[in-house]
Amino acid sequence: MSERAGGAGGGGARRRRRELTRTYSSRDESLSLTAEWRGYCAWGYFEANDIHNNRIAGFEVKAGANPTVVHCEIHHGQTGGIYVHESGLGQFIDNKIHSNNFAGVWITSNSNPTIRRNEIYNGHQGGVYIFGEGRGLIEHNNIYGNALAGIQIRTNSDPIVRHNKIHHGQHGGIYVHEKGQGLIEENEVYANTLAGVWITTGSTPVLRRNRIHSGKQVGVYFYDNGHGKLEDNDIFNHLYSGVQIRTGSNPVIRGNKIWGGQNGGVLVYNGGLGLLEQNEIFDNAMAGVWIKTDSNPTLKRNKIFDGRDGGICIFNGGKGVLEENDIFRNAQAGVLISTQSHPVLRRNRIFDGLAAGVEITNNATATLEHNQIFNNRFGGLCLASGVSPLVRGNKIFSNQDAVEKAVGGGQCLYKISSYTSFPMHDFYRCQTCNTTDRNAICVNCIKTCHSGHDVEFIRHDRFFCDCGAGTLSNQCQLQGEPTQDTDTLYDSAAPMESHTLMVF
Ligand SMILES: [Zn+2]
Ligand SMILES: [Zn+2]
Ligand SMILES: [Zn+2]
Repeated sequence: MSERAGGAGGGGARRRRRELTRTYSSRDESLSLTAEWRGYCAWGYFEANDIHNNRIAGFEVKAGANPTVVHCEIHHGQTGGIYVHESGLGQFIDNKIHSNNFAGVWITSNSNPTIRRNEIYNGHQGGVYIFGEGRGLIEHNNIYGNALAGIQIRTNSDPIVRHNKIHHGQHGGIYVHEKGQGLIEENEVYANTLAGVWITTGSTPVLRRNRIHSGKQVGVYFYDNGHGKLEDNDIFNHLYSGVQIRTGSNPVIRGNKIWGGQNGGVLVYNGGLGLLEQNEIFDNAMAGVWIKTDSNPTLKRNKIFDGRDGGICIFNGGKGVLEENDIFRNAQAGVLISTQSHPVLRRNRIFDGLAAGVEITNNATATLEHNQIFNNRFGGLCLASGVSPLVRGNKIFSNQDAVEKAVGGGQCLYKISSYTSFPMHDFYRCQTCNTTDRNAICVNCIKTCHSGHDVEFIRHDRFFCDCGAGTLSNQCQLQGEPTQDTDTLYDSAAPMESHTLMVF
């Protein structure tokens, strides 16, 4: 077990400094640092020790002590690996800290150690735990495979955390809670089981230029009054959303690239707030940005594009102020506003969509002022029956109006939508064929396939035609394979749950 990497050979220069320079080997004894030994930590220079199976921490540093600990292996402690408290300092460099029962490193009560280039792994709790007004410079460490968060920042602690790799944790990557702070820069946080970064309960960290990716849940999760700043990060390939904001959280999210989320790019819900500015949000499954359940974020000057579903989808009493965003090339509506929502859209450009520009349905309203809506395939602004938004000074032009053209050309609308999108059109029901109001039949199918039948108009809304889809017992006479290439229209991964409004 003795780990002598960098031992006597590398230590010559360092030995100048302290009278107490000792190298321990586990062959001599299994070191248990008693109070005395821990006292030596105050002045010591420790190199290439194997420190394990201790009842208290492997190293304890306190009261202004400033030991240097390099190339040690600190492992299988019955509590934590390194415990720095009561204004302790210390330089912990190039150590292996692993398999301890508590966190590998604890920093608390105004302590400010340097933790650099260590391997911190396989802890039975977290990697680095900073609490009770702890500080510290945590840099260039490789932190992985810990049972709790790789780094936990709690109770007014304010460390600098940079250039670390934090990965393959069985919990989240970085967990900031109970008024935690911290400057968290240029880390790579990936492949963690829960969120890459969690920010909650009055915390206000600053995260800049991190790469946060490939997590098994959310990338960055603000909840229960999580705040702080998220700037210039790359956040990508998460199995849930890239960024999630809920319950009173109000972060500033600026200049990030957010892509490859399987449940959308950004999800704001349950009273979430936030200022999202100048982000690029693209290639997400589901919506680029969801605004749901009484949330009210502000989105300014973002680019939201190449989504595999809608650009911005607003549901269930969602609000939001959307200004000067570019929303383009999304597979579904650029902006879909539904179910009692009421956002304000000003001076956005919504264009090149593969379905409609803006759709409003299900008793939603909206204020639309000075937007430009152009070159969208299904149409510019599509309003369901009973919807009457406030519309002022918009430019809606050069849309392809494929729905209107299909209706005019006698086609079944299924030909332009297949079952993957929902063109807004007049929707009928056929009593003779005994369809329910969950089966939409388009006007051309009513005229041909259901000619002479007892039919009724239901409303203008988002549906694909069930007659064309072949779900009715009588075969559709206008039917045929969809004429457009639906491969480019929809390339969605398996959804976590159905969020898309789908009414049959
Ligand atoms: Zn039809
Ligand atoms: Zn019929
Ligand atoms: Zn038909």
